[in-house]
Amino acid sequence: MHTAMVISPHADDATAFCGGTLAKLAHQGWNVILVRVTDDRKDSLGFSIEETIQKNAEELREAARILGIQEIVELGFETDMLADIPLGKLRERIVYLFRKYRPYAVFSFDPDGLYENNQDHVRVAQAVDEAFWVACFDKHYPEHFKEGLKPYSVCERWYFARQLPKVTHVEEITATIEQKIKALCAHHEMMRNTINQSRLQLQTWGKHMHWLDQSLDGDLQPLLGTFLQEQAKAVAVEAGWDPETRLGEAFRLERFGDLEPLFQMMSEPLPGAQEAPSRPELEQPYESPWDEEQLQQIIPADFDKRIRLMGHHHLCAGAFDALMAQPSFQLGYANLVKHLKPDPDLQVESIYGYDVFCYQCGFWSEQEGRCSTGWKNKLTKDAAVLAHLGLRPGQATRLEDLQRLLAGKVPYAKLEEFCGPGGDGKCEFYALGVCQKSYAALREKFGIRSK
Ligand SMILES: [Zn+2]
Repeated sequence: MHTAMVISPHADDATAFCGGTLAKLAHQGWNVILVRVTDDRKDSLGFSIEETIQKNAEELREAARILGIQEIVELGFETDMLADIPLGKLRERIVYLFRKYRPYAVFSFDPDGLYENNQDHVRVAQAVDEAFWVACFDKHYPEHFKEGLKPYSVCERWYFARQLPKVTHVEEITATIEQKIKALCAHHEMMRNTINQSRLQLQTWGKHMHWLDQSLDGDLQPLLGTFLQEQAKAVAVEAGWDPETRLGEAFRLERFGDLEPLFQMMSEPLPGAQEAPSRPELEQPYESPWDEEQLQQIIPADFDKRIRLMGHHHLCAGAFDALMAQPSFQLGYANLVKHLKPDPDLQVESIYGYDVFCYQCGFWSEQEGRCSTGWKNKLTKDAAVLAHLGLRPGQATRLEDLQRLLAGKVPYAKLEEFCGPGGDGKCEFYALGVCQKSYAALREKFGIRSK
């Protein structure tokens, strides 16, 4: 199961900013680890430093228990003094924890958060963001490797803030808001001190609020419960949800930055790896330039019985099944995957010119009405493929017969010549190895020995 690590400058930050999400992940079976950076030695009202350290540590344990957090790691820095600690020292501790616990996701303050005046929050945000970067290096903190640790890269950074520069992810916490409220109430002494801050400022203004006075020495639940509910509702409204039925926590979720689209398009599952949590908001589905009505006009009425293919697209017919199962093909050719039924009896008509695949392709330029990879080169290739297969435009072949023909006439070297890198080939699906495997399977199916 995946691990989530929250790096909380103070005991209450994790609960206050992402407690609902942490509890939800714990319910889903994630291993949730809380790192408290400081000792919160000054955050209470009317207790000594020693009593405060002890009370806040006990209350953190209780809050963590309520949220389902498995382990607390204490870094023990003095509270409200992180601005005086070299950033590199804090960063090294976080790199160490990344390498040791190998979290899939890390939660912390956003280094780009707005209106943050708490220097502990600022420093932790900076240290986490930089630790994410250098934890991957094999020359940063090599002393860690003597313990058997290895360079490591966290996949997801979930940043929270008083005000986020941009919200890229809202996690629904309707089912765990009560746990969040209970956990925040567990930070009894820190919450009393927070309430007292507001009381003192109100006094300076010449006012007081009965509710605050009452909560300070009484039950915190009505005040904190209302505050957290309203906050979660405001997040829901921003997300376009009905706040009466759905509550949320807001994050700036970062994964691969500018490389996100490339990695989504080209990456494939690593054998033996855990399944990655789906993040639909980060996925950028290919948007077809065609609406349903236009598609009706483009896709021939007899498409389920007869398809027309240009010369070099005949080669794709040898790998239809594998292509249609390939995530990036599904993304790029969603409409074709929906409509194409590659039955053995499907008639494949050879044509000379653009076909329905072209109109769906990311390289199709609608403005110029041509393939942006260069139609002139393709003309020669299309002719060469048809000639090689012994097919002529206007001729129709059963799909299974075409596949038998491909298995016999397109050995590995020929496939590479037509589709491989270099020259005018550059097919991304060949680069992914999809077609080579399919052709090998075809040869086996038809009992053709590879040359
Ligand atoms: Zn804090």
